[in-house]
Amino acid sequence: MAKPAAAKKLGRNDPCHCGSGRKYKDCHRQAEEAARSEQLRLRQAQDTLLPKIIEAAQSVPDQFPPAFARFWQGKYEYGVEQMEKLSTVEDRGSERFLTWFAFDFRQADGRTLLDQLDAAVEGGGFDVDPFERQLLAQWRQVRLRPYVVAEVRKGKGLSLRNLLGDEVYEVADYGASKRLAPGEVVVGHLIPADTTPGAEAPTYYLAGAAAQLTDDTAEKLLEFAELHLADLRRRAPDATWEDLLDQRSEILNHFVVALPQEQRDPTVMERIIADGRIGLQLTAESVAALLGRALPSDEEESK
Ligand SMILES: [Zn+2]
Repeated sequence: MAKPAAAKKLGRNDPCHCGSGRKYKDCHRQAEEAARSEQLRLRQAQDTLLPKIIEAAQSVPDQFPPAFARFWQGKYEYGVEQMEKLSTVEDRGSERFLTWFAFDFRQADGRTLLDQLDAAVEGGGFDVDPFERQLLAQWRQVRLRPYVVAEVRKGKGLSLRNLLGDEVYEVADYGASKRLAPGEVVVGHLIPADTTPGAEAPTYYLAGAAAQLTDDTAEKLLEFAELHLADLRRRAPDATWEDLLDQRSEILNHFVVALPQEQRDPTVMERIIADGRIGLQLTAESVAALLGRALPSDEEESK
């Protein structure tokens, strides 16, 4: 397939890059300019829609206390002062909470805020332009997820690999590309927006604030998430990662909150896993059985 960058340099009267023999202006030019214009509009919509969503989140504060308790696992009690304090105690804590509240938390009627906003557009209850509306519909599926930094292009963007799968996402985030290094873990919301003409997948952006973890956490975070998947399978044997994140993505934040903030400490992570297992009343054996795999080794488990 022809690269759009090459197509850009073509003059209107040059032969089209597709080899049709026709002039560019009579062949692919119009469609490509439309695609580039749409890409730009969607990228702008990504910039303007997110603040609208976060603002809408702040207009339903009666739902905050139960959501707050779930996200922080009861570690903080909801209050305006707490929200302010959180931003210093937990790295951008109030922003992380608001993003999760908007995308993941199910309100009293069982819908997420994004579901509600999407439904409100029709009646004029949520004011968006057609491009924002297109993104809003797609973003309803977005949940808090763990990713491993696969590659960093400093000052441009980065590739993130789904820790609970193998998909790799291209992320346009100038700030994150300067902060993060390969192997580090990001727990956040990846939102799709514009698609580069010719690209097969959309470009993603990190919504709101994400938690950033050192490179020694990936394996343990996976183990921690597996405990919760095993627990979910006790009631729903066919439960998948998608089900887990749809129902309790806040557990990812529980792991983040339990980590030491200053220095690395592997024993803390061992304790998080052990506490998780006790809290969920799971043995290593039952976890292995529920995840459908063999036990690691007998000696390791008997000590
Ligand atoms: Zn052509």
